[in-house]
Amino acid sequence: MSARRLSDLAPAGLAGRRALVRVDYNVPLENGGRVADDARIRASFDTLRHLLRAGARPVLLSHLGRPGGRPDPSLSLAPVARRLEESFGRPVRFVGPADSEEAVEASRELEEEGLLLLENVRFLPGETTDDPALGERLARLGDLYVNDAFGAAHRSHASTTGIPPRLRPAVMGLLVEREVEVLGALRAGPEAPFRIVMGGAKTADKIDVLEAFLGRADRILTGGVLANTLLAAAGYSMGRSLVEEEALERAGEILARQGDALVLPTDLVVAADPDRPESARPAPIDELGPDERALDIGPRTAARYEEAIGEARTVFWNGPLGLFEREAFAAGTRRTAEAVARATGAGAFTVVGGGDSASALRRAGAVGSVSHLSTGGGAALRYLAHGSLPALEALERE
Ligand code: ADP
Ligand code: MG
Repeated sequence: MSARRLSDLAPAGLAGRRALVRVDYNVPLENGGRVADDARIRASFDTLRHLLRAGARPVLLSHLGRPGGRPDPSLSLAPVARRLEESFGRPVRFVGPADSEEAVEASRELEEEGLLLLENVRFLPGETTDDPALGERLARLGDLYVNDAFGAAHRSHASTTGIPPRLRPAVMGLLVEREVEVLGALRAGPEAPFRIVMGGAKTADKIDVLEAFLGRADRILTGGVLANTLLAAAGYSMGRSLVEEEALERAGEILARQGDALVLPTDLVVAADPDRPESARPAPIDELGPDERALDIGPRTAARYEEAIGEARTVFWNGPLGLFEREAFAAGTRRTAEAVARATGAGAFTVVGGGDSASALRRAGAVGSVSHLSTGGGAALRYLAHGSLPALEALERE
């Protein structure tokens, strides 16, 4: 049983109705509030066009950052409203607070072809605790509910799980539908060799996915803080490297059980001070000084990973392999991005997920060269590990 889809709703049922769409406009802002990257805004266009074509009135709800349940002007969605208007080319009305009478009125006054964007839903206390009263108030903003916020679908918040039981029909938008299709295919039967690349920082989350995929992917190539943690669990001295202490025990268990498929770096780029690139040097994993930190995979490891990715028919990558924001520690991540792009060119099915992984791809000029760039990091990982997400569970089933 899967969630109902927007693409299955008859256009006649959409005409003239207010579609409350949970979008993911959690975009990076520049100092001064301009939208730095509008990829997430553009990712919603298919759903918006679909709705407008059928004569529906889109009412858009999103979060931005972590304001903690109270208004924070630096996290207002006002700049997003302006950017949406510019790039989508339709008038966008912007109203807040999202749960106000004024917002409900604005939703009723929406003209044909117009859009309404509501102020940051995380300004409201009760959003992140999924307060039922807030779900009730937000449900009044639409005549149907569409979830197109894949990046937030692993959260049980009022706007993701609180509204849909109170507002039917409640369906997946086109973006979420596509994500579920692609990630579902990775879960169900990826073509072998299936290689996973995992790095990044949020190690505890990633270990869940590692466990789910051990035994299914023939190799999992690791880097970043995840690899630091695995290396520490394997007994290496990691100096002053970032290691996720709470994940150490599970990392040790996984290594003991499934060492074969799990590939750890054999060398690293280490530095005494990340701010002094001249202190950076490649080092075998057993030669870290007590004051040094591992900040990238080493050149030998990068070459091995390139080769493993080159042999793959299916690749999933989440998490940069080092502190890629600094040029001195970006090589491992860049070489990986380029290898994934080349594999795609050679016919492999390649999926990349995660906000920082997406910016790493962008830096390497490889965004257009993967089969699917997921809009979710945590959500993609959780879906891969468990095959479901709270926000999808809350939608109508078919
Ligand atoms: P994603 O957003 O793609 O899911 P994460 O948020 O898990 O990825 O991790 C990305 C962050 O991890 C980046 O900011 C990167 O600098 C950091 N990182 C990766 N490797 C290291 C490392 N060895 N030491 C410190 N930070 C690292
Ligand atoms: Mg991240």
